[in-house]
Amino acid sequence: PAQLPNPLLTLEKVQAGYGDTIILRDIKFNLVPGSRIGLLGRNGAGKSTLVKLLAGELNAQAGVVALNPGISLGYFAQHQLETLDVQATPLQHLQRLDPIATEQQLRDFIGGFGFSGDAATALVGPMSGGEKARLVLALIVYQKPNMLLLDEPTNHLDSTMREALVYALQDFDGAMVIVSHDRHLLRTTVDEFYLVANQHVEPFAGDLDA
Ligand code: ATP
Ligand code: MG
Repeated sequence: PAQLPNPLLTLEKVQAGYGDTIILRDIKFNLVPGSRIGLLGRNGAGKSTLVKLLAGELNAQAGVVALNPGISLGYFAQHQLETLDVQATPLQHLQRLDPIATEQQLRDFIGGFGFSGDAATALVGPMSGGEKARLVLALIVYQKPNMLLLDEPTNHLDSTMREALVYALQDFDGAMVIVSHDRHLLRTTVDEFYLVANQHVEPFAGDLDA
């Protein structure tokens, strides 16, 4: 048989929740290189909880979460908007990540995320939620992590920016897990679905619109 690729991340018999509350039980989940997974499920089902586990933001109550050594991950969730430096500009955020790149290279990149011209050098402080989300996503994509974990990345995005994100994700060749109620985003970027329901995570092969 063909050899299976080494998983980037493995969950084995994982239980997770908050305090005494159990949200996910007996979860088995492997993320292999190249997989593009969409997570479906109702409000409160535990999708964000699963992504927090994958991102290492939440510790499992039981079981094993193993991230392969040397694997880098980019994690987007709404609370990441608060990690931005309100006193800095989009260009400065990129320069901190990559001090060697030329200003033009960084401007070309950030322009693709809606920060062209003066927008690249405007302070983050007064930006809208959508603008901050764009910047956080741009910073994550710029670092080319081995895997992307995106929790509702298009929440605040207008249709132009949503398309820009779709293009960026189609170009991205690492693994990704996307939680979204945005059917268009899922259809255009993801090829495998899992449903989070009844404290479990199951492969989903049904109709996305059902
Ligand atoms: P949505 O589609 O609304 O984003 P979700 O599938 O992402 O839902 P989660 O955010 O994972 O759902 O929440 C699952 C359950 O865990 C919910 O009942 C929620 O109230 C609870 N929960 C989430 N975060 C916490 C927290 N920090 N402390 C306590 N309970 C929490
Ligand atoms: Mg959620």
